[in-house]
Amino acid sequence: MVQGIAVVGSLNMDIVVTVDKLPAEGETLHGRGMSEVPGGKGANQAAAIGKLQTPVRMIGKVGTEGNGTALLRSLEDAGVDTSAVMKTPRAPTGIAVVTVDGDGHNHIIVVPGANGELSKEDIDFQRHVIEQCDIVILQLEVPLETVAYTLRLAKELGKTTVLNPAPARKLDEDILRYVDILIPNEHELQVMAKLDRIDKQTLEQAARQFMEHGVGAVIVTLGEEGCFYADCDRMVLYPARKVKATDTTAAGDSFIGGFVAGYLASRDADAAIRQAQIAAAITVTRHGAQSSLPTRQEVEAVQT
Ligand code: ATP
Repeated sequence: MVQGIAVVGSLNMDIVVTVDKLPAEGETLHGRGMSEVPGGKGANQAAAIGKLQTPVRMIGKVGTEGNGTALLRSLEDAGVDTSAVMKTPRAPTGIAVVTVDGDGHNHIIVVPGANGELSKEDIDFQRHVIEQCDIVILQLEVPLETVAYTLRLAKELGKTTVLNPAPARKLDEDILRYVDILIPNEHELQVMAKLDRIDKQTLEQAARQFMEHGVGAVIVTLGEEGCFYADCDRMVLYPARKVKATDTTAAGDSFIGGFVAGYLASRDADAAIRQAQIAAAITVTRHGAQSSLPTRQEVEAVQT
């Protein structure tokens, strides 16, 4: 019986500033506008899955002030079960300051707040959520020791694990061996595999290296170029769908949500990647993070 997906990760309030061009170092610019929108890689991926009408529960932490309540409401509106999101009086809800230019390029600064308080004990407290799901997804916006602990627990419980190693950092074998599907973007791959360029040869080399460390499959998202998939049987480049991008915020989160929801339904990476690229292509044509994620009906309308 298919049970659903657990997302263990961050919830942030995104403070989005629109500018004509991104500032250079030391430069002061006038922004065109500012808005506060729900975000955080964990919450965005959970919302992406919820909007595709796939059962999903979020494990995370927010502060006790209004931002936390707003983030939970937004996730619930997207169809996410938030009963395992804890509230702490010890830190404020995480925030991210996002600057986005007219071509859809962005800069992001994250202040973790309550996300930094998510502990191994919290995961033990929410163990039933991991037990009751099929797939567990994590990112690196909560403490690394919590990520490592959750991955190991999930594997011990026989779950499929997906890691989006964002923000980028080098990870050792003790973490990678518990990852079934690793989904970095180009920058994250470069940091993790110490690459000075991305091309077919370095993608294949890096994927092989991760698989030698115990990763089951690797998907590298390549922005408007699409994505690269590797497992022990095949290595394939999937071109992206042709669209006019207006804001690439949450493209990666939309891709991961679309992929995992598709993979839960079919256990077929090829079909899941096709769904992921449709979801992400819709996301980049719209402004915002969670607000730009497509519904199941919107994705199906492209598929048929
Ligand atoms: P972000 O950090 O902005 O959320 P990311 O860097 O994690 O994004 P990308 O690799 O930029 O993720 O994009 C993820 C996926 O989104 C790509 O694999 C592709 O399917 C889709 N995508 C991104 N940009 C475009 C584009 N310009 N046109 C079509 N699809 C795109």
